[in-house]
Amino acid sequence: MCSTDVCADDVCWICLAGDESGPLERPCRCPRSVHLSCLGRWQLQQAGRSEEQRCRFCACVLPPLEDSLLPPHLAPVAAAVTPYMAVVYQGEHFKIPVRPGLEGMAEFRARVKCLFGLPHDSDFQVSFECAAPTSGEKLTLRGMGCFNAAASCAAISAAKRAAGEDGGFEWSEAQQQQQQQQQQQQQQVVAQ
Ligand SMILES: [Zn+2]
Ligand SMILES: [Zn+2]
Repeated sequence: MCSTDVCADDVCWICLAGDESGPLERPCRCPRSVHLSCLGRWQLQQAGRSEEQRCRFCACVLPPLEDSLLPPHLAPVAAAVTPYMAVVYQGEHFKIPVRPGLEGMAEFRARVKCLFGLPHDSDFQVSFECAAPTSGEKLTLRGMGCFNAAASCAAISAAKRAAGEDGGFEWSEAQQQQQQQQQQQQQQVVAQ
């Protein structure tokens, strides 16, 4: 193991490759370098936990997931398209426009409650299905805490499709399951 700053500068702490596979950055105060795309993949694995948004060592706010995972050439496309999530509720499908971030999450909650006539103070359970931006694999993210990660994936998938690139798995084939328990509605949300 290497313990000097000089060494830490040379490689990405996640993939251990150097800057031959992309620029190395220091997104927080820690003395270590990372490829932003590697950091984004790691943040996605931490979806819903505080490590998704802050470095667990120095507590600095990390770059937003949609920035670290969005291929740079798609940035102009991403700015111009609206991502959607398909919500399945009691067998019916609805499309809801989304945007990442706290305000986006508040809008999403409000839209879902309005659409399904849920009381304002009700809580609902949700799981998100999205395509992992780097591999296109299907991911299931559980809980409203994962909204930001899911909306970021939706934004990246939407940009890829608008640019004619593969945006991930075929949404229409996504399986939906839902259970309704006494006071809890379970919704399946598919990022579009
Ligand atoms: Zn890396
Ligand atoms: Zn740090």
